[in-house]
Amino acid sequence: MTEKITKYPSSVLRRRAEEVSLDDETRTLIKRMKKAVKKHDGIGLAAPQIGESKRVIVLQTGDSFTALLNPEILEKSGEKITTKEGCLSVDGVWLDIDRAKKIKAKALTEEGEEVEVEAEDLLAVVLQHEIDHLNGVLFIDRAGLQKKIKSVILYYFKKYFYVFKKSR
Ligand SMILES: [Zn+2]
Repeated sequence: MTEKITKYPSSVLRRRAEEVSLDDETRTLIKRMKKAVKKHDGIGLAAPQIGESKRVIVLQTGDSFTALLNPEILEKSGEKITTKEGCLSVDGVWLDIDRAKKIKAKALTEEGEEVEVEAEDLLAVVLQHEIDHLNGVLFIDRAGLQKKIKSVILYYFKKYFYVFKKSR
């Protein structure tokens, strides 16, 4: 079965997700998330994106997957980096978003280890994007208001235009 990606403006994307412990339920969730991120060819995925309001994210680099439980950002650099971001939950919208260039985060791994992660550039951006999801924040919220309004209009336009094309 293919995991369905929860799309904007679903309310599960706007909720603060719950902390998890490393149990069978969480392991099953991680498995589903790895499958989904692979299938949809994302760099990262947060549990709310498959409809589960849990603090779990999965990162895909090449053929390997890293799951992080209850990730939390400890430090952010003042230096910023601007990246064109998109999101599996917000089809067809790409926006330049400013984020911290370097971060330090802590999380629990799926092996049950407490780790601290220092990340920069793309990895730092992906971590910030995915951890935002656990707090009900989407990348479009990080754009200026004007860009956000434009992107939401574009999103609905594309969505309904697609439906219209399909139904003909
Ligand atoms: Zn996203």
